[in-house]
Amino acid sequence: MGEFDLIEKIKSIFPSANQDGQIGIGDDCAVLDCGNGREWLVSTDMLIEDVHFLRSQNPYSLGWKSAAVNISDIAAMGGTPRWVFLSIALPAALSPTWIDEFLKGFRDILSQHHVLLMGGDTCSSKNGICVNVAIIGEAEKGRSIKRSAARVGDWIVVTGPLGDSAAGLKCILSDLPADEHVKALIQKHTQPCPRIHEGLQLAQLEGIGAMMDISDGIASDLRHILKASGVGARVNVTKIPRSAAFSAVCQRESWDELDLALGGGEDYELLFTCRPGTPLPAYCTVIGEITSHSEQLEWVGTERDFSGYRHF
Ligand code: ADP
Ligand code: MG
Repeated sequence: MGEFDLIEKIKSIFPSANQDGQIGIGDDCAVLDCGNGREWLVSTDMLIEDVHFLRSQNPYSLGWKSAAVNISDIAAMGGTPRWVFLSIALPAALSPTWIDEFLKGFRDILSQHHVLLMGGDTCSSKNGICVNVAIIGEAEKGRSIKRSAARVGDWIVVTGPLGDSAAGLKCILSDLPADEHVKALIQKHTQPCPRIHEGLQLAQLEGIGAMMDISDGIASDLRHILKASGVGARVNVTKIPRSAAFSAVCQRESWDELDLALGGGEDYELLFTCRPGTPLPAYCTVIGEITSHSEQLEWVGTERDFSGYRHF
């Protein structure tokens, strides 16, 4: 059973109330009415040693990333992040310096986004490190942007270059000498910047449709929008924005640019749809359009097919 089949199974056993604008399982965040013209956005994400990171990774950037991936789920709904809860299971052998650095990274991104730590849980672990963060954000009632709102004919748009994070991971694993490009890619992998400002701006667009953040790679994540909205998509791979550092390192190392840009996860850029012709901010790139072919994802400009990252 794959990751998404398992989530579907859980959803069928615990049907949550998706009514009156409330959303349970299925979007980047749960959306809960708080009764005063606002809605709460709630999400949680876990990072596990040897699955999401290695012990050798800099603890500062792990602390940063643990909060960043959660803040990104608030950005994905066009909301404002407010409060987090941090639960950590740590092996007894971990040094106090490791923990100090981890907390510094966690604190720095929270203060950048004016988010407060409100609680959590601390345990020992007999195996690896496990970090779980839960986040609460907010939006104006009825204004958070769902995965289910894409319409046939909509443009498909991304907020920035794709593939940098996956290439950064490959740089770390291949132990490449840290020139300027390599450093930039590694930074994108270890300290991603959630697109809160962009999410808030895009949520105000008149023609906005569906939105989510790209955590598993666009080839996997776009399928969630297609499924939730009951539509298809045509994406022109030649239009996928790629950074100068990404193209330079991929060409030098003979890495497959499309594999990394379409299948590589953890860029945390936003992926959204909007009515064609909508005036867009300069950081946006239109990469395709929504079709009526239910859940079919067609690639233009390549003969190949792509899939993103999946657990299991
Ligand atoms: P993201 O990549 O944006 O963090 P996920 O793919 O992890 O989203 O999750 C998709 C949806 O499934 C979310 O609404 C999430 O809350 C829900 N979900 C994932 N795992 C579970 C679980 N074990 N129990 C209940 N809901 C879950
Ligand atoms: Mg998400």
